[in-house]
Amino acid sequence: MSIFKSHAAGQDNPLMQYVLNNSMREHPALKKLRLRTMEHSWNIMMVACEQSQFMANLAKLIKTKKALEIGVYTGYNTLSIALTLPDDGVIVACDVSEDYTNIGKPFWKEAGVEQKIDLRIQPALKTLDDLLSDGQAGTFDFAFIDADKVNYENYYEKALQLLRKGGIIAIDNVLWGGKVVKPSPEDQDTVAIDKLNKKLHRDARINLSMLTVGDGLTLAIKL
Ligand code: CA
Repeated sequence: MSIFKSHAAGQDNPLMQYVLNNSMREHPALKKLRLRTMEHSWNIMMVACEQSQFMANLAKLIKTKKALEIGVYTGYNTLSIALTLPDDGVIVACDVSEDYTNIGKPFWKEAGVEQKIDLRIQPALKTLDDLLSDGQAGTFDFAFIDADKVNYENYYEKALQLLRKGGIIAIDNVLWGGKVVKPSPEDQDTVAIDKLNKKLHRDARINLSMLTVGDGLTLAIKL
């Protein structure tokens, strides 16, 4: 039994376990937060750890100083990104649940990066509008969207405004367990994800990649 558990397909897949065993380099506080989150009833909402590490590497590659996270849950990915930021970097973390985000806070502190995490407990659209009216359009390097799916398109549009040219928006769950292949019309989440996937395919404002890591991860690079 491996020490790694990923909720993504492949948890029981020996090749996936090999990938995790030979690539994961978690900060001790990050590992503790992952294990703590696995005890939580909604742990399916935690981002796959290998995906989180990939996004942190990507954020570092483009020298991210200002990051945005829409959907925090227990803050595993928040911590992962905060650990890659320079001392004067910041991640604006948006969520509506104090209960979930409180689980992560002690681990953010233990890792010594809690001062880089600007947690805002209110609907994310409100926070994004606050940032825009505060004149912060074009100033963010990296954004991660992983909240309620029916608002995905709204989050994407506002995040794109907040991003600088060359910045990256990463969007989680774009395959939605495979349901996007044949969305049933009454399934609003799947319909919303499929709609955004098709919109991004035609979107001339970005370069695009759709990766099959985790539950599907789209990278939109602002032109
Ligand atoms: Ca997710």
